[in-house]
Amino acid sequence: MAETHRELYDAIVVGAGIQGCFTTYHFAKNKRKVLLLEQFFLPHSRGSSHGQSRIIRKTYPEEFYTKMMKECYQIWAQLENESGMKLYRQTGLLMLGTKEEDTFRAIQDTVSKQGVEHKYFEAKELKRGFPNIQLPREQVGIWEPSGGVLFADKALKALQDLIRQLGGVIHDGEKVAEIKPGFPVTVTTTTRTYQAKSLVITAGPWTNQLLLPLGMQLPLQTLRINVCYWREKVPGSHGENFPCFVGSFPDRSAHHIYGLPAGEYPGLVKVCYHHGNKADPDERDCPSASPDLADVQILSSFVRDCLPGLQPQPAIMECCMYTNTPDENFILDRHPNHANIIIGAGFSGHSFKLSPVVGKILYELSMETTLSYDLTPFQIKRFQHLHKTSL
Ligand SMILES: Cc1cc2nc3c(=O)[nH]c(=O)nc-3n(C[C@H](O)[C@H](O)[C@H](O)COP(=O)(O)OP(=O)(O)OC[C@H]3O[C@@H](n4cnc5c(N)ncnc54)[C@H](O)[C@@H]3O)c2cc1C
Repeated sequence: MAETHRELYDAIVVGAGIQGCFTTYHFAKNKRKVLLLEQFFLPHSRGSSHGQSRIIRKTYPEEFYTKMMKECYQIWAQLENESGMKLYRQTGLLMLGTKEEDTFRAIQDTVSKQGVEHKYFEAKELKRGFPNIQLPREQVGIWEPSGGVLFADKALKALQDLIRQLGGVIHDGEKVAEIKPGFPVTVTTTTRTYQAKSLVITAGPWTNQLLLPLGMQLPLQTLRINVCYWREKVPGSHGENFPCFVGSFPDRSAHHIYGLPAGEYPGLVKVCYHHGNKADPDERDCPSASPDLADVQILSSFVRDCLPGLQPQPAIMECCMYTNTPDENFILDRHPNHANIIIGAGFSGHSFKLSPVVGKILYELSMETTLSYDLTPFQIKRFQHLHKTSL
């Protein structure tokens, strides 16, 4: 039988990915008693937050994300100061698309309205400005100088160290097996039972496993992502002067392709497909789950044609998970029947940069304080018409 822990926490957070860590950090920073539970021993590479790099940018088609990013940059800088660790490298970000695309036009509108420093590039100028990238004639770009790379694993470590320094508690290697709603909410792991005034679920691709006994399933699709690294033909040619990029290339792929300069592996540039194959997070690497490599073929042909300075076969392939909602916007809301259970989920492969504010919002929902942002785009009820959202 699980040993019962006497302490009454202000909050228990389930899942020590970037969202759970930032949420816990905000609790600890506000002097709340907080416990972060993680099923695996830390660090681990089974979820969505591991690895050395993530893109940070303000260029979004949706104004609400661009607004949130302003505060995110401030909190990332605060985290660098508090931890004494460098977590962000400014490389600039090139957003690529065509003039005809609604999304590209929406991005142009948003960056202009929100006063994000940027520069528009016609195809010819792109060629001159970024000689390593060879694009079709119709391709145009928006350059955002503040874009860059976040050092993901270092950020997780910085947060976990600060949480402990601020008095927060982290228990890794403890899988949450049972949640009994109520006040207080009771949480039983593989080894102990805990109680808290509120519970925040940030369980990434495992979210629906935890919600099922709570009478709820969200329309989440869990995808296995191939993280591909490509070798430079001339060592050093895609490091210092190579930008991050995100692009839509309608003639060659249904989803975005993005890239980051060589960093974590010397001489290897990260170029990935913004989609993957459906997979259960517990079976991600089973030998029986033979991976479909159609995405890698799309990337190979993109690298061959558009990044001719790289070898067109991946030199390293790693694995990561996306948890997508139908509209690819996040879920930041309360459980509809249990107001002190807060859910942060469906981060759809683009939330690392936004985690400082996501964590703040989940803290605010949990503490029932004034919300800093309008949460309408993130509410669960937007899916009520879908069969899969069973409440
Ligand atoms: C290849 C790849 C590239 C990406 N690139 C970018 C990018 O460039 N920019 C960007 O902003 N974002 C990017 N993202 C997205 C971003 O990394 C994710 O949205 C983010 O990491 C999601 O974090 P999370 O905390 O929700 O999930 P996770 O990191 O999966 O964390 C969930 C945690 O919950 C734990 N857990 C689950 N169930 C239980 C349980 N029962 N008990 C205890 N613990 C439990 C898990 O073990 C896990 O540690 C990328 C993602 C991938 C995969």
